[in-house]
Amino acid sequence: MQSNEDPELSSLKAILIRHGITEVIPVRNAAGIGWARKRLAGEGTYKITRSIVRQIMQSRGLDPTILDAYQASRRSSYEPGTVHGAFTIERIIPPTLERPHRMFEVRCQCGARMTRWYGEILKNRHGCKACYTKVMIARWSRTEEVPHDFWRRLNLSAEQRGLAVTVTSVGLWELFTRQRMTCALSGVPLTLYATPGDPRTASLDRIEPEIGYLPGNVQWVHKDINRAKQMFSQDQFIALCRSVAEHQATLSGQGLHESHRSATSCDDTKA
Ligand SMILES: [Zn+2]
Repeated sequence: MQSNEDPELSSLKAILIRHGITEVIPVRNAAGIGWARKRLAGEGTYKITRSIVRQIMQSRGLDPTILDAYQASRRSSYEPGTVHGAFTIERIIPPTLERPHRMFEVRCQCGARMTRWYGEILKNRHGCKACYTKVMIARWSRTEEVPHDFWRRLNLSAEQRGLAVTVTSVGLWELFTRQRMTCALSGVPLTLYATPGDPRTASLDRIEPEIGYLPGNVQWVHKDINRAKQMFSQDQFIALCRSVAEHQATLSGQGLHESHRSATSCDDTKA
């Protein structure tokens, strides 16, 4: 989500309004910041030069160097090496006609490098997406319940299938942390609280499918595992997975996979 708000323009506007100048508006242009003035009658604005802005300020008894000082301080505060929240600026990318504002090559606290405009540097105090996710997980790890939508859906579908639910939302969260937020069968990490780009993968499995959601009969598994397991008991499923894995190991031990692969790649090169 890209916000249209330009923090530098808003701050400049605020300075002018504070000095009683409401008809002059700073605008973003290819050179950085330009100026416009509200029409005396009707809607809209017209462009004015920097020297007219100075004249207006002087006519109100203001020192026009306020703006110069302000803009200089803004520029220097984004010099390479300066730190803004989780980001350190490494390089300034000057504006172009297509992109009328400066961009910054920044380094996140985690060491990752990326390009940001300063609106994003100001807003993302937690850093890059990975760091932000970490902060959110830390926040949620204090949570003592499963997500509300998950809990509601679980109860609804159990009711429709005539299954008893005697576990609690708190109990399920405790089980999730006891499982170290990983799948009980495959050990892969699970997501219970989804974030943009990181959908929920945790799924609640009944060990004995005929029995409802009772303490001791539930475990957190990856949703793909749950789907694959559906028609089997846990023992049958594990036995099935084991024979697949063992057979595959035997095949690669005999080099069958290798010969098959090289045969395929030969075909590829011919085609
Ligand atoms: Zn980061």
